[in-house]
Amino acid sequence: MTVLRSQHDVLLLDLDGTVYQGEQPIAGAVEALSAGSEKQYFVTNNASRSPKHVADHLRGLGFETSEDYVVTSAQVAARMLAEKLTPGASVVVVGTDALSDEISNVGLTPVRSADGSPSAVVQGHNVETGWGALAEAAFAIRAGALWVATNIDATLPTERGLAPGNGSMVAAVRTATGVEPEVAGKPAAPIMRDAIRLSSAEKPLVVGDRLDTDIAGANATGIPSLLVLSGVSSALDAVRAVESERPTYIGFSLDVLNQAPEASLVGVKPGWRASVEAGVLRVTHDGSTVVDPLDGLLTAASVAWESTGWDTVEVDGSDVERVRQLLQA
Ligand SMILES: [Mg+2]
Repeated sequence: MTVLRSQHDVLLLDLDGTVYQGEQPIAGAVEALSAGSEKQYFVTNNASRSPKHVADHLRGLGFETSEDYVVTSAQVAARMLAEKLTPGASVVVVGTDALSDEISNVGLTPVRSADGSPSAVVQGHNVETGWGALAEAAFAIRAGALWVATNIDATLPTERGLAPGNGSMVAAVRTATGVEPEVAGKPAAPIMRDAIRLSSAEKPLVVGDRLDTDIAGANATGIPSLLVLSGVSSALDAVRAVESERPTYIGFSLDVLNQAPEASLVGVKPGWRASVEAGVLRVTHDGSTVVDPLDGLLTAASVAWESTGWDTVEVDGSDVERVRQLLQA
C-alpha cells in the first residue's frame, strides 16, 4: 500500500504540539515516526535553545535524531544577517546565549549594547529579556541598524497558559521605532527555504499543529502540508481556515503518515456530503459507510473552503456525535 510518507523524501516536522507537548511525547508519535525511511528534519521557531539542546531533548523523549537534523529560527536569522553584513560586523543580540552562539557561528560579532554603531539587531525569545535589552535594540534600530526577528509568534504556550512570545517583545520594539523587522521563522519563508536546502528535499511534507505558522509557512513556500490536531489548531479552526492557512492533509495524529494519502487528504469522502444553506454549513452522513470522524471533518473542510456565507455548522446522521463535537466546539 502507498502510504502518505512514502510520497515524500523529507518530513519537515514542527516540535511543540506535533511531536511533543512540553516534557511528554505526543501519544504514539515516537512509534509513528520510527516506521519510515524518509529523512526527518525538526524545524522550530524557538530560538532560545541550540540545535544540540533540541536534539538531546528529542532523544530523551525517544525520538531518533541528532543536531544535524534540527533547524532553528536562530540559525536562519544568523544566516540572513551573514548574507547582508560584512564578516565580523557587530550584532546586538536580544535573546539567549544560544542565539549569540549562532551569530558567532556565521562569523559575526555578538554584542549586548547599541554603543559602537552595531550593524544589526537580532531578536529571539529569552525569558530574561527586560526593558534594558529592548532599549538597546531600539537605540540601534533608530540609528539605522538592520533588524531581524527570529520569529513573531505572539504567544508562547506554557503549563500555566499562554505567555508573551517573541512577537510580543518584537511589538514593543516596533512601537518604539516605527520599523518592521525581517522575520526568519514560520510563517515567513526563510526557515522553510533553509530546511529544504539543508535536507536537499525534492518532495518535502511540512507537518505541524498550527495553521498560522506551520501551514501558512508551507503555503508561502509552495509545499504540501499535514495539520495534526494534537496541538494548538482545532478541527473547527481548520474548517474555518483562510486560504493562506489551509493544509493539504489533516490527521488526528502522526499515524496518518502510515496510512493511504486519501485517508487524510481534504476532500468529500464516501458516505459524506456537505452544503451551505441559509448561513449553516450542513454536514451529513448518509449511513452507507462506517462513520469515520476524520472523513466527516475532511468533507466539511473541503466544502467550507469552496463556500462563503456560513457561520455555524450542523451535523446530521446517526452515530455522528464525535463529528458534532469536533465541528461545533
Ligand atoms: Mg507547534
